Amino acid sequence: MNGKRILLIVGGGIAAYKALELVRGLREAGAAVTTVMTKGAERFVAPLSFAALSSAQVHTELFDPLEESGMGHIELSRAADLLVVAPATADLMAKMAGGHADDLASTVLLATDKPVLLAPAMNVRMWLHPATKRNVEAIRAAGALMVGPEVGDMACGETGPGRMAEPEAILDGIRLALSPKPLAGKHVIVTSGPTLEPIDPVRFIANRSSGRQGKAIAEALTNVGARVTFVSGPAAGMPRGAEVVNVETARQMLDAAMAALPADAAVCAAAVVDWRPRKASAGKLKKAEGQGPPKLELVENPDILAALSGAEARPRLVVGFAAETEDLEANARRKLAAKGCDWIVANRVDAESGVFGGAENEVMLISADATEEWPRMGKNEVGLRLAERICAQLAE
Ligand code: C5P
Repeated sequence: MNGKRILLIVGGGIAAYKALELVRGLREAGAAVTTVMTKGAERFVAPLSFAALSSAQVHTELFDPLEESGMGHIELSRAADLLVVAPATADLMAKMAGGHADDLASTVLLATDKPVLLAPAMNVRMWLHPATKRNVEAIRAAGALMVGPEVGDMACGETGPGRMAEPEAILDGIRLALSPKPLAGKHVIVTSGPTLEPIDPVRFIANRSSGRQGKAIAEALTNVGARVTFVSGPAAGMPRGAEVVNVETARQMLDAAMAALPADAAVCAAAVVDWRPRKASAGKLKKAEGQGPPKLELVENPDILAALSGAEARPRLVVGFAAETEDLEANARRKLAAKGCDWIVANRVDAESGVFGGAENEVMLISADATEEWPRMGKNEVGLRLAERICAQLAE
């Protein structure tokens, strides 16, 4: 980050005080920080605090003759290497999504030609509101990066997603956003989501995987320049910027993953259903008087992770996941050996962890000779960290 210029846009939320910590972190890392504050932000933290910590002028007015004669808003929006919005409030994101420009912050965000990273922060209900969801989608589609929000207790007394990511996590995101694109020219296959194994035309066996972790990994890899083939079972959101191949069954997933070779790396985050009905019934199975339930004969599904690990055109780095409810590390190590992959990201998925379908994950990164425990963090942050590690490994 040394010598990089950050334009920090502070929105009007209680998390604005954490943006001060972010300025300190950026300065310590050698970055120059210029701050823009919204009117709301000024109600929470005094501009003087940002001026003192950044040793630079703080901008607050759009129509200020003095400022426009110095560094006008257009120049301000272009003079940085990266724009960071922290906290990104619901209102500021709505303005961004709608292309509004009615104050300095929104005008700068609309006028910029530089990458933008947001750290959203708001009340749980506001974050979960369909309007905010639409705005987030629109902002992401326009290419902005997001760190957080995290799940936790909030200043308003409620608990849930909406807390601004910690300054340390935002700094990680900034580092990644500013990094040259180390995976440019590299191809990575990511499998994600559940698979769906038909019993008959209307019934199937599947699992609770939401595909969120796989999506986050694919987006983080795209952000560092990789070409990502995202082979996904049925799931809600698809990653921005990846080449998406939609599949349903494990066999289709295997075919699609193998067809995507050669690749420099593969990350198998899919929750593949282990057994499928031997033969899907052509017609809907009927309930018949006195016959009891049908017997389902199950056969084993192909193991995509093992197949990629053993492929002739094996990617240099093959990463698997291990979702375990007990003996996390020992089971993950067994899997590493059995499947022939290089790393296993092991995560706890018991009911208390709330990992399946949730926004957070608690993982260990396991390789043949090391075990790293990562703190509980958002799935986006797990994606960012994993992408960083993959960059480092492929650079060797
Ligand atoms: O054996 P288990 O399902 O716990 O292993 C998990 C890892 O193996 C995950 O990375 C998953 O994507 C992968 N896997 C696979 N094909 C299967 C089963 C698991 O790729 N049939």
